[in-house]
Amino acid sequence: MRRRTFLTTAAGTVLMFGISRSTRLRADTPPAVEKLYLSDEAWRERLTPEQYEVLRFSQTEFAGSSDLLHEYRAGTYVCAGCDLPLFKSDWKYNSRTGWPSFWRAFDEHLTTRKPIYAFRAPTEYRCARCDGHHGHIFEDGPPPTGLRYCSNGAALRFVPV
Ligand SMILES: [Zn+2]
Repeated sequence: MRRRTFLTTAAGTVLMFGISRSTRLRADTPPAVEKLYLSDEAWRERLTPEQYEVLRFSQTEFAGSSDLLHEYRAGTYVCAGCDLPLFKSDWKYNSRTGWPSFWRAFDEHLTTRKPIYAFRAPTEYRCARCDGHHGHIFEDGPPPTGLRYCSNGAALRFVPV
């Protein structure tokens, strides 16, 4: 199934060669949630400086800097920009990378951007509602998915059960 998706996507990419870059990127994951658009000024008011740098400018927080690395309670991790649920605590694990890591996500709440020009660069994922940058997906995670959603803790807010 995954191979079929890959082949379809690859064929689509070839067919759409020449169409604008943003069109090809959006084709990876169809949006399933209503979008939230805010002005830059509104984002600055809504977010802390660190959240703003990560979510709106795709910066990466320092490894080991997030309090969420030590969050072990049951609950949900939501987007710090718009409260859209992105991960369950059951999907979190210690990757020893210094960034909060998950092996699964609410896929329909994320959009992904595959690097087109950098062959080995990991796929970026963003919040499907506010388009905030969250992190990257690596393929060295634990079973059953084998995926690691490497997240900036600053982009997340934890909501205990
Ligand atoms: Zn969001």
